[in-house]
Parts: sequence; C-alpha cells; structure tokens
Amino acid sequence: MHSVERIGRYRIQRPLGTGAFGTVWLAHDDTLDVPVAVKILADNWSHRPDIRERFLSEARLLRRAGSPRVVQVYDIGELPDDRPYLVMEYADGGTLADLLHDGPLPVPEALRFTALAARAAATLHEVGIVHQDIKPTNLLLRTGPDGVLEVVLADLGPARTLAEASGLTTAAGAAGYRPPEQAEPGAGIDARADVYSLGAVGYHLVTGSVPGPPGKVVRPDRLRPGLDPGVRRALMRALRTDRKRRRPDARAFAEELERLATGPKPRRRRHRLLGLAAGAAVAGMAFTQMDHGPAPTELRIEDTTGRVAAVVPATWAGQVRGWGWDPRVLGLPAGHQPGFAVADDLARWQDLGADVDGMFVGRVGRGEITALVNALAHPACHYDGARDHTLPVWHGRVRTWSDCPGGGSVVEAGLTPPDGSGQPQLYVQIRQQGEPKGIRRVLGSVRVGG
Ligand code: ATP
Ligand code: MG
Repeated sequence: MHSVERIGRYRIQRPLGTGAFGTVWLAHDDTLDVPVAVKILADNWSHRPDIRERFLSEARLLRRAGSPRVVQVYDIGELPDDRPYLVMEYADGGTLADLLHDGPLPVPEALRFTALAARAAATLHEVGIVHQDIKPTNLLLRTGPDGVLEVVLADLGPARTLAEASGLTTAAGAAGYRPPEQAEPGAGIDARADVYSLGAVGYHLVTGSVPGPPGKVVRPDRLRPGLDPGVRRALMRALRTDRKRRRPDARAFAEELERLATGPKPRRRRHRLLGLAAGAAVAGMAFTQMDHGPAPTELRIEDTTGRVAAVVPATWAGQVRGWGWDPRVLGLPAGHQPGFAVADDLARWQDLGADVDGMFVGRVGRGEITALVNALAHPACHYDGARDHTLPVWHGRVRTWSDCPGGGSVVEAGLTPPDGSGQPQLYVQIRQQGEPKGIRRVLGSVRVGG
C-alpha cells in the first residue's frame, strides 16, 4: 500500500478506520476549508472490476438517497495507481460501535439511536434501496448544530436497489445483524431485511451483546433485567425469522422506539423483574426469585449457555452480560469460556472510582487460577489480605482490597474443586460500594455444569 499525503485538494491527515474493502481517512478540503472522510479501495481489491464497480455503485446510491440521514458523497476519483476513492462527509462523533465499547447504553438512549438509524434506513427505502449491511460500524455519529449527536447511515457496499435485489444471490451482512433471507439464495430482499438488522442494532445497544443467530436470539430482558416488556416485544418482533411477522416498515419501527424511549413507567419495570417465574428452566439466563415476599433479596443469574450460575443480591442485578469471556484478558491460555457479569452499572465496571455493585464469574479452561489470583494487584486500593475459604463445593482463594478511589472494594477470587482435581475452575471478581460483604455466601452459590 503506497502512502498518500494529498489527493488533489484533499490533504490526508489520519486513518479513521479500516473495513473489509479499504481504509477511511480523515482529510482536509483545503479549498472549502472543511474536514472530509476519504475512503480508498484497498490495493488488492482495486484490480477486481466487480469490486471496483461495487465501490462506485455505492457512491451513486449514496448520492441518490440525497438525505441528511445518509452520508453525503462529495466526489469520486482515482489515484495515480488506479485505486478508486470516494470523498464523503466526515462524521465527527465516531460510530455506534465506539459507544458500545463501554457496555450497553441507557435504554432510552439506545432506543433513540436505533430510532434514528431506522429513520435513516427509511429514507433509503423510500428511494427503493435496501441497505443490507446495517450494523454499528456503519452507523456514524455527527454532532448536530445544537450539539446533539445525530446518526448518519454509511456504507452501502452490498446495497442494491429493491428491483435488483429481488431474487439476487447474496449473503451480505454481518453475523448477528443479518436476517435469514440474506443468507438464502434467491429469497428476494426487501425493506424487512433492514428492519431485522435495525432490531439487531437496538438489541446490541440495549443488552451490550450481538444477538445470536436468527431464531436463536436470547430474550433481551434476560440480559438486561427489568427491561420494559414493550421494548422486548419491539426488538423481538423486528428479529423474527419469518419476515411476514416483522414490522414491515422502518419508519413505523422508528416511531415505536421513539414512543418507548419516553417510557417505561418505573413501577411496571420493577414488576417485570419480580414477575419472572421462580426456577424457570429456560435456555439462556434465568432470574429466579429466591426469597418469598414482596421483593426478592437475591436473584439467580446464569450465563447464556446455562453452564455457570450464581445467586447475587437483587440490588446488583441491574444489567447482565452473559456471553462468556476469553481468559486471555488475564494472561491465561486463550479460548472462549462461559461466564457472566452482573452489576447495577456494567458500563462502569472497570472504573475503580465509580460506585458499582456486582460480580463477574468466568470459567477457566487451562492455566492455574489460584496462581493468577495471587498475582493480581490493585495499587490504587488498600490491600486487606488473602484468605482461603472452604465452601460446600469449592476451595476458594480470596483476596480483598478496600478504600479504592471511589470508596468501594474489590474481591478477586479463584474457585477450584476441594479435592484438588483442578477442574472445573473459575475466576470471580466482586465489586461493592464500601467494605466487602456477604462474599462467602455469593462464592458458595457459584455452580458450574456441562
Ligand atoms: P466493513 O468493511 O465490514 O463494512 P466497516 O464499516 O468498519 O467494516 P468501513 O466502512 O471501511 O468499514 O469504515 C471503516 C471505519 O471508518 C468505520 O468503522 C468508521 O469508524 C470510519 N468511518 C467510515 N466512514 C466515515 C465517515 N464518513 N466519517 C467518519 N468516520 C468514518
Ligand atoms: Mg462501513
């Protein structure tokens, strides 16, 4: 790849990101004195006539949409080495994918962003274009005149006009956001395909997890306890496998989400959380009321595979992320392992200056969890020492820190079988406001299956 410093009047400044077909650069239009984004088709693709044509057709389609909700194209051209490029409006706020780095969004915000994305898709549908690749990296954010973030739909790479799309053999789209008909040759594609992807974006923003494959999507309220049932229904309806049962129209979906963003009533939300059946044996996550009476004091949380579970104080169970983890983040051998995080505010889990109550539990496949826990440190907090707990099903190595910058505490624990057999083993992290409380009880409730 040759480095380019200037393309005509556009002075290249820095890369904004790289996708499957090329790199997008921030550049400055020296004539109009405005920032622009320049997408240059990658070297290896620029010799393929079909890909070149797709790249240029994207520019034409974006032009045809002519909507402020869809990224504006200013110019197209070719570099001296023949690579085609596209000059477009620069979205200064990153993408929805960037917002997700900190975990799920507050529900009203998630619904508003999804509604804006749906309105953007609707403007394409009106001119007969199905996007077919709506996902967080293709939903750009731009600061509006009033300082509020606006959503701009980008990247029509695989988009086709409605007429062309019918009967087209294509498997465009990203896993989790892709409706089943897009993977089915000859199914014919219409606006309902984008409604599915918009539902997937909403689901991701609300739960922090990409939905599972079509037909195997875990209900969003299992990942975000207390979610308004109206929000759950709206998202699950968009994510239906049978497109006849989806909301057919992106604009109507946007309106529904906007209505929901102004609700829900707090009383109803609470009722939903408490109303879940005790001991429900569902695939995915279950929240089981442990105590009888008006409000549960403890809830049973499971990961999405049902293989790791624990009982935690109900006040911790604001949000759950249950898709497991990779022990590589701790320097242990890599691999996907079951696990979950539950907390009143998962977005602030990593921030020792924040008040957070919750727990992370993850299974560890290989490596020595006890040795690892012994090596962990939280220099910003006061170290209270290590203890060995003998619990009904575990030997627990437990180390505690308190007086963290936000006044809270952190517990790091490794659970291994008391018989020394080594497997299964688990890594547990507990955060609490103030001193650690009830650690033995929570650790003792951890169960592993499968
Ligand atoms: P894929 O190739 O799978 O679609 P992608 O959407 O991330 O992935 P690109 O469309 O090439 O790939 O974009 C790369 C990144 O550049 C985006 O993720 C986004 O962060 C950034 N980007 C793209 N267009 C713009 C723009 N107009 N303004 C600001 N940033 C942009
Ligand atoms: Mg893109």
